[in-house]
Amino acid sequence: MPNSLHMQAEYLELRTRHPFIIARGGRSDYRTIWVRLSDGEGNEGWGEAAPSKFYGETAETVLAALNVYVAAMPADPFDMEETERRWATTLRGNAAARSALSAALHDLAGKRLGIPVFRLWGLDPSKAPRSTFTIGLDTPERIRLKVEEAAEYPILKVKLGTEHDVEILRAIREVTDKEIRVDANCGWTVKRAIAMLPVLREFGITVLEQPLPPHEIGGLAEITRHATIPVIADESCRTVEDIPPLVGAVDGINIKLAKCGSLREALRMIAVARAHGMMVMVGCMIESSLGITAAAHFTPLVDIVDLDGAALLSVDPFTGARIDGGQVTLPHGPGLGVQAR
Ligand code: MG
Repeated sequence: MPNSLHMQAEYLELRTRHPFIIARGGRSDYRTIWVRLSDGEGNEGWGEAAPSKFYGETAETVLAALNVYVAAMPADPFDMEETERRWATTLRGNAAARSALSAALHDLAGKRLGIPVFRLWGLDPSKAPRSTFTIGLDTPERIRLKVEEAAEYPILKVKLGTEHDVEILRAIREVTDKEIRVDANCGWTVKRAIAMLPVLREFGITVLEQPLPPHEIGGLAEITRHATIPVIADESCRTVEDIPPLVGAVDGINIKLAKCGSLREALRMIAVARAHGMMVMVGCMIESSLGITAAAHFTPLVDIVDLDGAALLSVDPFTGARIDGGQVTLPHGPGLGVQAR
C-alpha cells in the first residue's frame, strides 16, 4: 500500500495596510496557516486556512484540527470526494482548516497532471467577473483617503452596519462615482434596513450584503421584498444545506472557503444556487494570495467577486491570482499556480 500524504503546517503572520474594520470590530494583524501536503515523489500541494473567530476558529484551533485530520490522510490526492467526506465526519466544523487541506489536494492533483485547477474543472479563466475592493469602516477623512488609494479598482465594496452609515456613504460618494456595493455584516435590523433602502438608492448602491444577523431569514425576505437591488446572504449561508431555506428570502449567496470548508463544497453550492435561480458571489477573509487563488479558480462560475483579501495586505508572502485594476487574472501554472515570493 502506498504511503499516505505527508502534511506540514505553519503560521503565516499577515498585516493589512490599514486596520480592517467591519461592524463586528477590526485589527491589522492576522494569523493564517500554510498547509503543505507532499506525496513523497517531489510533488507538494499547498493550501491556506484563514480562521474566523465569528465561525469559532483561531490559528490555534486550525492547527489542532489539522492534527486530527492528518490521521485520515489519503494515499492518493485524487481521492478527494471520499477524503473530504472522511475529514468532515471525523471532526465537524473547522471549515477553514478543511479548506486548506481541500486546496492542497486540488493543488497536488493539478501538479501531478501538469494543468491548472480551473482546467481540471473545464473553466474559462477569461469569464471571471471583476473583483470589488473593500473600504473598511473609518472616519470620513480616512475613508476618502482609502477611496483615493483604491483608484485602480473600478468597483468598491463598503462596510456598513454602524450609526454613521449615511455619513460614510456620503463621504465616499463625494469623492467617487464608481459602482459601490455595501455589506452591513449583520449590523442592521429589519426596520433600519428598510429605512436605509431609499438611502442606498440615492447613493446608487448596486448590491446589499447581509443586512441582518444570520438566522433572521424571515427578516431577510422582508428586506428583499422591499429592495430594488440584489440582497446577498453571507453570514446566513455557510454550506450547501443553508441554501434551500434561503430560496425566495434573498437574491443570492456569498461563498467563502473558510465557511464551506472545501473547493468541492463551493462547486456544489454554485450548482444548488443556480438550480434555484440565485446569484452567486465569492468572498474571502484577510488571507494571502495562496488562499485567494484557491477561491479565484472557480470565479468563472460566479456573478460577483470580492477577492481583495491579499490586495489589502502590506506584504503578501505568495504570488498567484491577481486583481489588478479589479480584473481577476488566474495563474496558468499547474495546480493552484501559487508560488512563494
Ligand atoms: Mg460579507
